[in-house]
Amino acid sequence: MEESHNNVVPVAPSETGSGQYGCSHYRRRCKIIAPCCNQIFDCRHCHNESQNSVQVDLANMHDIPRHDVKRVICSLCSTEQDVQQVCIQCGVCMGRYFCSKCKFFDDDVSKKQYHCDECGICRTGGEENFFHCKKCDCCYSSSMKDSHRCIEKAMHQNCPVCFEFLFDTTKDITVLPCGHTIHLGCVREMQKHCQYSCPVCSKSFCDMSRVWEKMDEELALTPMPEMFQNKTVWILCNDCGETSEVKFHIIAHKCLKCKSYNTRRTQAASAPCLSRMEEMVR
Ligand SMILES: [Zn+2]
Ligand SMILES: [Zn+2]
Ligand SMILES: [Zn+2]
Ligand SMILES: [Zn+2]
Ligand SMILES: [Zn+2]
Ligand SMILES: [Zn+2]
Ligand SMILES: [Zn+2]
Ligand SMILES: [Zn+2]
Repeated sequence: MEESHNNVVPVAPSETGSGQYGCSHYRRRCKIIAPCCNQIFDCRHCHNESQNSVQVDLANMHDIPRHDVKRVICSLCSTEQDVQQVCIQCGVCMGRYFCSKCKFFDDDVSKKQYHCDECGICRTGGEENFFHCKKCDCCYSSSMKDSHRCIEKAMHQNCPVCFEFLFDTTKDITVLPCGHTIHLGCVREMQKHCQYSCPVCSKSFCDMSRVWEKMDEELALTPMPEMFQNKTVWILCNDCGETSEVKFHIIAHKCLKCKSYNTRRTQAASAPCLSRMEEMVR
């Protein structure tokens, strides 16, 4: 005898309201109750922004411990419940992407979210396009698999330009040839201002050979007066680390080893050669 399966067939989670609820950070159909302050927020960024704003006492500032979120509130029926993907009351799917480890919901799956167990957080961009580097302890784009220079915990620090913590930033990140990590947008901003050296270690991060050629020309056009002909200075090259003794010049000093003008004088204080160079690049 055919049995009716009507009451055992799981009801597909409802897509009602998908993309219509959420905050400026995420489209989702629930709010979270912050375990730290017991207040209701759209998402952890909303929490962190409001709890770290200038209006909050320094002593009360805090970030949400995201993995500890225990309760959510359905945006459609307002039912408070444990963290889960489908509302127990109205059956709506509270986030098309859902991570039970991060207690994370997002209706916009075009970001291709995935959870990295080694990072311990959800990331975007598609698992197939990323790999987790054990030494850097972070996920990087597959294109960097053989080309990046590993630096222990490279991402577990702040962007040297805007000081945001890089490990769980939602913005694009990049690794400079020297191995230091930084927001892609912050690098572009530096380039706009003709800054081409790493803010952490001062190494050039682009191919500067054309610029150095221009510097050669400029120096050739600006011979030093007779009285300086025999004056020499010691320089340290920011790019190759070589120390050398070179002829003094008012504009800049060229590393004898790698031909870079990204150098600094090691004796006697003087204006950094770079400022003149940056003017030229403009
Ligand atoms: Zn938010
Ligand atoms: Zn509901
Ligand atoms: Zn996750
Ligand atoms: Zn990872
Ligand atoms: Zn690495
Ligand atoms: Zn930055
Ligand atoms: Zn660097
Ligand atoms: Zn050099």
